[in-house]
Parts: sequence; C-alpha cells; structure tokens
Amino acid sequence: MDPRSSTSLWQEARTLFPGGVNSPVRSFRAVGGEPFFARRAEGATLWDVDGRPYIDYVCSWGALPLGHAHPVVEAAVREALAEGTSFGVPSPREVRLAAKIRASVPSIEKLRMTSSGTEACMTAIRLARGFTGRDKILKFAGCYHGHSDSLLVKAGSGALTHGEPDSAGVPRPLAELTIVLPWNDAAAAQELLDREGGRIAAVILEPVPANAGLLPPRPGFLERIRELCDRHGIILIFDEVITGFRLGMGGAQERFGIRPDLTTFGKIVGGGLPAAALGGRAEILDRLAPAGEVYQAGTLSGNPLAMAAGLAQIEEMERSRAYERLEQLGAMLESEVRELLRRRAEKSVQFHRMASLFCFFFTDQAVFSLEDAIASDRKRFARFFHSLLRQGVFFPPSPFETCFLSTAHSEREIEKTVAAIGRALEESQ
Ligand SMILES: *Cc1c(COP(=O)(O)O)cnc(C)c1O
Repeated sequence: MDPRSSTSLWQEARTLFPGGVNSPVRSFRAVGGEPFFARRAEGATLWDVDGRPYIDYVCSWGALPLGHAHPVVEAAVREALAEGTSFGVPSPREVRLAAKIRASVPSIEKLRMTSSGTEACMTAIRLARGFTGRDKILKFAGCYHGHSDSLLVKAGSGALTHGEPDSAGVPRPLAELTIVLPWNDAAAAQELLDREGGRIAAVILEPVPANAGLLPPRPGFLERIRELCDRHGIILIFDEVITGFRLGMGGAQERFGIRPDLTTFGKIVGGGLPAAALGGRAEILDRLAPAGEVYQAGTLSGNPLAMAAGLAQIEEMERSRAYERLEQLGAMLESEVRELLRRRAEKSVQFHRMASLFCFFFTDQAVFSLEDAIASDRKRFARFFHSLLRQGVFFPPSPFETCFLSTAHSEREIEKTVAAIGRALEESQ
C-alpha cells in the first residue's frame, strides 16, 4: 500500500499528468482546491488515502448503480479473473452480455462492444455516415458524447449553423460538418432539419442530458426529433451511456417510448470496468467491419473481466428490483430537499431530479438548456461543493455534472446528506 497523503500524491501527479489528472473534471478546476486520492470504496462510501470517508454521489460517474464493490459483481470478476484477463479471440461472456442488452432494450437487434463511451459514439457517427452516405451531423449544446473530433464541437456564432471546434486540435473543416443547436428547442430543430435534413447523416442526443447538470427533455421534444429524422431519412442516435440501465432496464427509450436507430451504452454496462457498446437496427450494424465496409476494431473490446462485471451488475439490478429502490431513494431525497428549500425560502436554487439522477443549479430562472445552466451562479456552486465535502459528502466537482444515487445509499445517509445540504446552502450564501 502506498502510504502517501493526498497532498503528496497530488504533488507527484502534477509532474506526471497534465493538470495532475487523467480526466479533466477530476482536477477540481471548476470548484478550486486540490482533489483527494481514493484509497478504497464500499457501498456508498468512498475513503480517501488519509482515511476520511465520504458519502459518494459520483459513484464512478454513474457506472455503479449498486454502489462500490458490490459482492455479486466482485465475485463475477474474481471468477473471470481466474480464467484469464484477455484472450484476443471471442469468449462466451461477450455473447452473454450482448444477449442481455438485446433482451432488455427493444431497439437493439445487433451490437458491437467497445472499451469506452467515446469509442461507441465515434463509431455510431461513422456508421451513420457510412450507411446514409451523408457527412453532416446534428448535436445539441450541453449533450456530451465523448471526445472524438466530430463531437467536440460547439455552436458557431450568430446565424451560422455549422459548428466550431470545442478543443484545439479539432480541424475546423471537420467541425463545420457538425451542426449544434440549443437543447429542448423543437422549433430550431424543425427549421434546421426541414432545410438541411437531406444532407444530415445523424442526430445524436442524450435523451436526458446529464453532462450539463440534468436537463430533462421538454414534453414532446424527443418525439418531434424522431418524426423529423423519419421524414428526412436521418439516423437517430440515442446516447444512453448514462441513462442506459439507469432509468430502467430499457433506458430512456423505454421510459419515453421512442425507438432510436442506434444507441450507445457505457458506464453501467461495464460494471466499473472499461466496457461500452453501440447497438441498434441490424441492417445498420451489419455495415460494420468485417460484415460491412465501415471500419472499427478494439484490442480489448469484449474484455472478459469487463463483460463479467457488466453482466453481473445488470442481472443483479434486475433480480434485486434496483429500479424501484432507486426511485424510492430519489423521491425521498427530492421531497426532503424541496422541503428544505421551502423552509429556507430559497428563491435562487433549481433542483432537478429524474429517477436516481439529480442536480442543483444556483439561479432563480428555470433551466432548460446549456445556456440557462451557464447563467447560473457557479461561484456559489463551488462554495456549496466545498461545504459538502468538508461535511463528508462528495458531489461531482463541477456545476455541470449530475449526482448519482445507488441502491447502496441508505435512508440514514440520505438524511445526513440533506442535513449537509442545508448547512452548505447556508455557508454558500
Ligand atoms: C461518459 C459519457 C460518454 C463518454 O464515455 P467515456 O467512457 O468516458 O468515453 C459519452 N456519452 C455520455 C452521455 C457520457 O456520459
């Protein structure tokens, strides 16, 4: 065991990794201060290397709806480990996990396993382009689909419909093929798609965006997008990397009764190990190599440890009626938070929740889009975050992320969390 403190690890990490981390949000840059290093985690508790426990609402960014180190998942990984870590040829566990996903999600006829959500979304875009023979894609501001070039694009200025690179290193001519519209604006989507639809390969969206805070779709928005895609022969891609197996076994598409052409999965399907997938209509998936002409591959795709973890987690969620429990915990948290906000007469807090996802925006305006989220008081969020952290409650270290409940969170922990939120609202004022 490495005996060093978070502070001394952070000192060395900053010399090893750009910004000290291997994924930007972990750096605490959005809230200030230094990140802590994790020693271990169990259930809803994460311990840092200095021995401090936190009630964890990050839960590996939603990958762990049963909480950390669930015994059933752990046992499945141990069993797989004893048989070898990676084979480089097909193995039974990838067939079993894929069959489970297909049986659970109605729109899935065939799948391809990948190692990250980024790869799944990147491949979905390439596949849609290969299938339709069109180059342009449409995404929505505030939806995150990983960091491939075509998807690291933000809205262009003024009346321009083509996007601009959202990162240095993304070629402008490529970014111009990605159109970015405001989330939840059905009129803007209709206007754009009726004008440019014939040149657009795919519309990609998070059916419940959870990467700019939580931004549930307005009633009818997803239905309208589905209609417009049908009208113009556009592939509709639901990025269910967060919502898949979280809003229910059938994800957001089941909840809203909409059938996308392609769906991407990640996070939960890997059970805390690196696995993701894309799936959908067989006639589209069959265009992937080696069946078809759209290339995609992966040395560790379908990794047996990750397949074992993902399958065990999904089967355990179904067996233990996890979705009912997650809804119950979410509803309890919501009613106590709303009561707290009422008692404090807080006018400048918007609390959003869907199932086991929730977030706080510090603004007196309703929040429907990224623009609304950006207009919130991010400095107050940072004070709120640090007050919670001091009280042993770990929220995502950014005002543009969503909190995750797990079945391992107990009623007692939720009570403690709500009390801590009360103090944090006071201290962040
Ligand atoms: C996390 C996430 C991704 C990217 O997945 P990685 O495994 O981090 O590459 C894509 N889409 C959504 C909606 C996500 O939340």
